[in-house]
Amino acid sequence: MQGMGKIVSVCLIVFAGLLVWADGGAGGGGAKGTTVRLPGAAFNALETINPEHIRWHVRFLSHDLLEGRGTGQRGGDLAAEYIATQFAEYGLKPAGDHGTYMQRVPLVGITTLPDSQFSLIPKKGEAMNLRALDEYVAYDQTQQPQSDVDAEVVFVGYGIEAPEYNWDDYKGVDVRGKILLMLVNEPTSDDPKFFKGKSLTYYGRWTYKYEEGLRKGAAGVLLVHQTQMASYPWEVVRNSNSGEKSFLKLEGPALKVASWIHFDVASRLASASGMSLEKLMASAQSRDFRPVSLGARLKAHMVSKVRNFESNNVLAILPGGDRKMADEAVMYTAHWDHFGIRPDLPGDNIFNGADDNATGCGILLEVARAFGTSAAKPRRSILFAAVTAEEQGLLGSEYLGKHPPIPAGKITLDLNYDDVKPLGAPEEVQVAGAERTNFYPIVQAMAKDFRLAIRPDARPEAGHFYRSDHFSLARVGIPSFSINEGTKFKGHADSWGVQQESDYVDKHYHQPSDEYRPDMDFVGDSAMARFGFALGFEAAGLPKLIEWQKGDEFEAARIRSH
Ligand SMILES: [Zn+2]
Repeated sequence: MQGMGKIVSVCLIVFAGLLVWADGGAGGGGAKGTTVRLPGAAFNALETINPEHIRWHVRFLSHDLLEGRGTGQRGGDLAAEYIATQFAEYGLKPAGDHGTYMQRVPLVGITTLPDSQFSLIPKKGEAMNLRALDEYVAYDQTQQPQSDVDAEVVFVGYGIEAPEYNWDDYKGVDVRGKILLMLVNEPTSDDPKFFKGKSLTYYGRWTYKYEEGLRKGAAGVLLVHQTQMASYPWEVVRNSNSGEKSFLKLEGPALKVASWIHFDVASRLASASGMSLEKLMASAQSRDFRPVSLGARLKAHMVSKVRNFESNNVLAILPGGDRKMADEAVMYTAHWDHFGIRPDLPGDNIFNGADDNATGCGILLEVARAFGTSAAKPRRSILFAAVTAEEQGLLGSEYLGKHPPIPAGKITLDLNYDDVKPLGAPEEVQVAGAERTNFYPIVQAMAKDFRLAIRPDARPEAGHFYRSDHFSLARVGIPSFSINEGTKFKGHADSWGVQQESDYVDKHYHQPSDEYRPDMDFVGDSAMARFGFALGFEAAGLPKLIEWQKGDEFEAARIRSH
């Protein structure tokens, strides 16, 4: 735990959605030995955080006139302008390009065209000409209209190099220019010290596999799809890899072939090479695994439609009140984008994205307003980032992580809001990932003061941590997590909250029906905003920067960033 300096112990009570505080309360407590101090004027600012303010932001941002806030579409640009205007009104300084609130994010949409050809040629026997979407999906990440690949296929197991788990599938073998055949997920184990046991680490995600293949200089990666290992069926791979896919405009080298192949295809290829896929998969479980050449080649002719477009992250800053610490910052993020309009759909084809993520933007704006108008200034600066292209694969936040207005090593914390449901007064908070940082004792104490129980991640094996914008910032080293409600709400059984969540997933998630309704209750969004405001204010005044715990998968990136 970091030194706390002069401490004013406070007791916060959430009462019917109103937050009151008492100075020096002995009963409020917190986690063992931890108390939270906020200056009185900061509490006054916190108390101005109002559910109805969040409501009006959500109502406007999810209005049909905003056309679903599509990335690179008019409605999205309007949303960004609205957010920038609010920042200005709160007295926050621009932190985007050339003294503006906008950080331009160059994007490329790529569609793999039917003229593409994709053949696996085994050592012996017939070439396997694969059928697009049924047997393989692929994108040319070099962002060229055409490219050709003719290279040897090497099986590299899980394709993981993880020094902290003493695991290296490559063993120094030169795979430059090769096509790497690899498994998704990570070596199986229940040992919590080995790839976090049942929890998925980033090494198991398909995005990591592509990135590691590229770092090794490969020409392409073929991911073997297996339903159990991917935790979703081939249809999901097929649907999320057909049509146009967006990428950040290239800033370095890239894979010519980023691909998934059907399990049966991989199995046939192994057999034709005189091997067994099952045996190869079993061998990949061992620490002694070494890359295996299949003696086969991939011959691919990739033809793509390449469309350049752009969108903006909206960035504002409240300069810190302490001259020595003002070059460091606490950051808040929420994505403003959703899916826009889909002209090909009959009926209502506007993806309003009220829950996802007008709510997070409403919270971000309300936290920004509270900071901007607070009489007490935090010591470090406070950075607000409404990011774009989350729905396209966390692209806006990825760009922000690569081009932060304050160096990543000087950003002490990122708090993200995504899809915070307007369901009333919460009795729980979710902060998955916070426990991996040395800020956690303060998070626990704060939750206790807010009378919020911390709800643990119900399915750590699903890897939700890697699917929201905070992850883009974690990977450049910034201690980051999202704040959200749990499932227990005041006046309801836990099962009610669970039911609300599953109804939403079944009927409204990423559907045009994710719309604003006047009966929405934003008390919970307000509670999450207050909680995040208090955490951020606290983090902005700590004597030292927040760090990941020793041995955490993001620790190395953090050390590099300092
Ligand atoms: Zn979202």
